[in-house]
Amino acid sequence: MHIEVRGISKNYNGHQAVSDVSFSIERGKLIGLLGPSGGGKSTLLRILAGLESPDAGEIYINGKLVNDVQPQQRGIGFVFQNYALFKHMNVFDNIAFGLTIRKKDKAEIKQRVDELLDLTGLRGFEKRYPHQLSGGQRQRVAFARALAPRPELLLLDEPFAAIDAKVRKELRTWLKQLISTIGITSIFVTHDQDEAVEVADEMLIVQQGRLEQQGTPVSIYTEP
Ligand code: ADP
Ligand code: ADP
Repeated sequence: MHIEVRGISKNYNGHQAVSDVSFSIERGKLIGLLGPSGGGKSTLLRILAGLESPDAGEIYINGKLVNDVQPQQRGIGFVFQNYALFKHMNVFDNIAFGLTIRKKDKAEIKQRVDELLDLTGLRGFEKRYPHQLSGGQRQRVAFARALAPRPELLLLDEPFAAIDAKVRKELRTWLKQLISTIGITSIFVTHDQDEAVEVADEMLIVQQGRLEQQGTPVSIYTEP
């Protein structure tokens, strides 16, 4: 999906969290949204997702204004940093969640969950509960759950922040591969420049609520 954001601002009790941010993203790109903690990255993602309303500005998805479209109707999947898997549900039911609440039939759910188990390398783990998985496995379940309803845009808010450095590196490589396989437009939030450079096709750099730069890692970090 093509995304265009025009003049988005958000103020919390007199504090400007996001200031007049505009950008557009081409279909199929993996965008790194980089900047220091408190810079406004999560706020921007929540606004894109429809979890929060901007004070000003418009969001267009495939040319359609979505400011008043409910989160579930935007075709967006999320993965957050601290898994947020349902502890009382096994892997199968966690992945199936978005399909179950959309009242898909059992056979269709089974088929889709099986596809995702294969795609995320989790085949054989479907009966396990989150506490029986490693951090990396849990995060792969979170990706499978986010992808199950076939979103057109995937929002990733520091998805590997809670995972140790070695596994985090493996997961980055895995994620790049996964995203290029599916070809889904994605925004990956991180405060880690190396991580952004490694995963992103293009970067958005946000500081104190303002969009400072947009471009490929090479164009941003190579002096002209
Ligand atoms: P980042 O994701 O880049 O760390 P955030 O978007 O979380 O930044 O926060 C941007 C600024 O807005 C911070 O100063 C933060 O404290 C503030 N902020 C974020 N959410 C809220 C909220 N719900 N209420 C008040 N202030 C908030
Ligand atoms: P992150 O580091 O991922 O941006 P935070 O820990 O800053 O997350 O924020 C977690 C939650 O707390 C978010 O929902 C955010 O909106 C809210 N929040 C952040 N800063 C503030 C703030 N200054 N006042 C109230 N809520 C806030």
